[in-house]
Amino acid sequence: MASFQQRRCQHCLTRYSYQASGPGSHEQTNSGQWCPVCAEVVYTALKAIPQRVATEWVVTTEPSCQELVALEKERATAAREAGQVFARRVLAPLFDMTGERGTQHQGILTRVPGYANTTFRYEWWEKKGVEAGVAYVKMEINLVSNESQPWQEFPTR
Ligand SMILES: [Zn+2]
Repeated sequence: MASFQQRRCQHCLTRYSYQASGPGSHEQTNSGQWCPVCAEVVYTALKAIPQRVATEWVVTTEPSCQELVALEKERATAAREAGQVFARRVLAPLFDMTGERGTQHQGILTRVPGYANTTFRYEWWEKKGVEAGVAYVKMEINLVSNESQPWQEFPTR
């Protein structure tokens, strides 16, 4: 079902209809900030600027998969005991149809003690156990200098 909202363009102040969901909402000129005319100009101009940063998940041993899983369980328990709903990112698990590994468990964590503002991901397979799991750190790759550093989240607006 499509959802439309009346908006005012941040540049030309024209009133326009923004499609918040449904077929067509992914069109580039359907912007929550700009009317279709201004959005077209903005995105055409941005096409001339190459991407300068990419992200990559890199295997890490510190913290380990076990430590990340334990931290997430600790947070879930603390939230439950405080009468709160534990919020976590939902990731689609993989299923090994050969039956060898079972179901994959995954999680993404931030605010890990000792790693301020860094994002980690873990994955482990049910039948191999969390000990055999893998931890990843989200890295920022500078495509110009090829330097990398842990990815840090900042507001984009
Ligand atoms: Zn406009």
